[in-house]
Amino acid sequence: MPVTTTSRRSFLQVLSAGTALAAGGWVGRAARAARRPNVVVILTDDLGYGDLSCYGATAVQTPHLDRLAAGGLQFTDGHSGAATCTPSRYAMLSGEYAFRKPGTGVLPGDANLILDPQRLSLASLLRGAGYRTGCVGKWHLGLGRGPLDWNAELRPGPLEVGFEECFILPATGDRVPTVYVRDRRVVGLDPADPLTVSYKEPLTGLPTGREHPELLTLGLTHGHDQSIVHGISRIGYQRGGRAAWWRDESIADVFRDEALAFVERHRAEPFFLYLATHDIHVPRVPHPRFVGATALGPRGDAIVQLDATVGALLDALDRHGLTDDTLLIFSSDNGPVLDDGYADQAVARLGQHRPAGPWQGGKYSPYEGGTRVPFLVRWPQRIRPGRSDALVSQIDLLASLAALLEVPLPAAAAPDSFNVLPALLGESPTGRTQLVEQASSLALREGTWKFIPPRGGANGRPAELFDLAADPGEEHNLAPADPARATAMQATLRQLREAGRSRPTTP
Ligand code: CA
Repeated sequence: MPVTTTSRRSFLQVLSAGTALAAGGWVGRAARAARRPNVVVILTDDLGYGDLSCYGATAVQTPHLDRLAAGGLQFTDGHSGAATCTPSRYAMLSGEYAFRKPGTGVLPGDANLILDPQRLSLASLLRGAGYRTGCVGKWHLGLGRGPLDWNAELRPGPLEVGFEECFILPATGDRVPTVYVRDRRVVGLDPADPLTVSYKEPLTGLPTGREHPELLTLGLTHGHDQSIVHGISRIGYQRGGRAAWWRDESIADVFRDEALAFVERHRAEPFFLYLATHDIHVPRVPHPRFVGATALGPRGDAIVQLDATVGALLDALDRHGLTDDTLLIFSSDNGPVLDDGYADQAVARLGQHRPAGPWQGGKYSPYEGGTRVPFLVRWPQRIRPGRSDALVSQIDLLASLAALLEVPLPAAAAPDSFNVLPALLGESPTGRTQLVEQASSLALREGTWKFIPPRGGANGRPAELFDLAADPGEEHNLAPADPARATAMQATLRQLREAGRSRPTTP
């Protein structure tokens, strides 16, 4: 195609501007800095698409997250790797759909590590690229091999999959043990009072919620009726280790302080911080300063607490002059849930609030509300603020960051992670073309089409096909009217499962 006078002039203008900048050395410096930003991933828990004011919530205000959104890209079709905690986290850190690996369902608190230390993880990728890597918050990916002795070193764990330091809550707040782990040791353990955990046989010592509901400060709706710690009964049995027990109402502050300390320690070098908040998972016990912050009860108050945690981190990045050079990704590990076992008024006080926004379903569900979550990406130096409808998943962080850092991915690594960097940077309006959504069953997205295979069981459903462009709420099943598309998508889903990977082995 002949170059027109106008386009040639534009080209020359760009060229001469580039030459002038290069003469001052700015281009080289900017390009180097742009390739190596600090990376912060804030993964929150059970937060729905509609739970933030920047995504339309009015019953709860999240000014700090709104500030983050306004300074970056706000995705409308960003997904977690699965609709529950453990498989979602596995998928994000490994770049592999969790359904490919048996044993990656929601783990008990004494489970062994499910990430393979021999394989590339998001953390080991960044560590290999020269980053200082740290993990703060909820882990829920297992620890150790074989029976765990909580009074000894817990290995392998985060430090064996690429993190140089960690401060974690091993599983969840509703599961024992109710302690923190720093690097490989339980924090604050008194050797005279060893910690024992059991998920099979009851342990003598602590009363249980099942036998002593009169001791509970937070009522139960289902399950969670084993050892009582601080008036809240949990899943699993625990004995001893009393000096090491966390206080539920201070978990958010403890994680905030650990995250800020990590940034402070490593502010002068490229760092990767994975901050996995416990908010807003059950039991929802916000600090007293947030109680009553919303009319939604503890679930809404926990969202405000989460927002404050994010605000503190944003302020710290500002204070250290790191904001421009930090790629910050905020998302949730799965969609929302109201009643998840504790009687915390989440249903009774919901009012007009819609935790999943316009999507159907939530945590556990194969409908969009299961995995379509808040997804914010900010990097002032590279990303122009705005909104994006690109289809992206947390599973893609691994391949996308590898592309950013120009690290070639080994063929066997991250088999389901796609390089969607252009979408994450706002340079392309499209991300993936396909995505498997993992919930109580699998579902397939192809563009704006959604297919859910027939499901058996008590709540069985026939095959479902939705056109999300016309029917975002997944209310009109088109499978009977368009059996050819439904059959084709079912075959594609089966093929994606059986292939063992979805990212091509050649770039
Ligand atoms: Ca979760």
